[in-house]
Amino acid sequence: MNLPKAKNTFCPKCNKHTIQKISIYKAGKRRGMAAGERRHAQRKKGYGGQKFPKLAKPAKTTKKVTQVLTCPDCNKKMMKKGIRIRKFELVAK
Ligand SMILES: [Zn+2]
Repeated sequence: MNLPKAKNTFCPKCNKHTIQKISIYKAGKRRGMAAGERRHAQRKKGYGGQKFPKLAKPAKTTKKVTQVLTCPDCNKKMMKKGIRIRKFELVAK
């Protein structure tokens, strides 16, 4: 699926339509010292440590793609609802 690189859409901060740049959301790097990460490591430790079954046969064959729209005037970032697509490409339109 081809996604446009820019799109004229509403910005709630500027309260008007602006041509916004579209990029794809990527999750940040996981921090090993974060509280949840440490807790998870502690629970998984030792004999019988796996607390939930490992996913052997995933039901979904695709990952969700979330678009991030950036307003050029105020730099506000807005996210769109993620859509499931197998293949995508950002193309100039
Ligand atoms: Zn704006």
